[in-house]
Amino acid sequence: MKLLELLESWPVVRQLRDGDALGLGRAAQSRRSRELTPRTQHADRVVQSICPYCAVGCGQLVYVESGEVTHIEGDPASPISRGRLCPKGQASKSFVQSPLREYKVKYRRPYGTRWEELSLDDAMEMIAQRIVDTRAATWEEKTPDDAPANRTMAIGNLGGATLDNEENYLIKKLCFGLGIVQVENQARI
Ligand code: SF4
Repeated sequence: MKLLELLESWPVVRQLRDGDALGLGRAAQSRRSRELTPRTQHADRVVQSICPYCAVGCGQLVYVESGEVTHIEGDPASPISRGRLCPKGQASKSFVQSPLREYKVKYRRPYGTRWEELSLDDAMEMIAQRIVDTRAATWEEKTPDDAPANRTMAIGNLGGATLDNEENYLIKKLCFGLGIVQVENQARI
C-alpha cells in the first residue's frame, strides 16, 4: 500500500482533512461503503405493476436487468399505497424467482401418501367432472318446506385474498349459475 493510501486509511486523517471532527460523516465510511451502489442502479427498465398478493392492490416498481427481475419496491406514484408495501409485497420477487416455486399441478389421490404431478388439462378436466357429478348427485329442487331451491349444498367455494373484485364477481356468477350457494372469500372471513 502506498504511503498516501496508508494515511488515508487512518480515520483520524480523514476526520481532519474532511472537517468531520466527530467522525460521524464521510470520515467514518470504509472504502467498501463508499463504493456501494444501489442494486436498482443498473436496471435496464423499471416497470409499474400491482402487487399480486391481496386485493388492496398496492403499486409496485419492478426493476428488470437482462430480462430478470432484480428488485421490487413500492411505487410512490400509487394513490393506494403511496410507496409502501407490506412484508408480503416486499417479498414478491420470490413469487417470480424462488427455486421453491411450483410449476406443476400437484395431486394427492384419496388415501395416497405422496404427491403426483398432473398436467393442467388433466387437473381441469378432473375438477370439472367432479363438479358435474357432485352437482347431479346432490341437486335440490326444493327446500325441506317445499320452497323452490335449485341448488347443491355439497359444493362450496372459498376464494383467496389474491382475487380482485372482478375475479370474485366472475366466480360468484359461475357458482350461482351452477346452483352453488356457499361462496366465501378469505379476505372477508
Ligand atoms: S399483500 Fe401487502 S403489499 Fe401486496 S397488495 Fe396486499 S397489502 Fe399491498
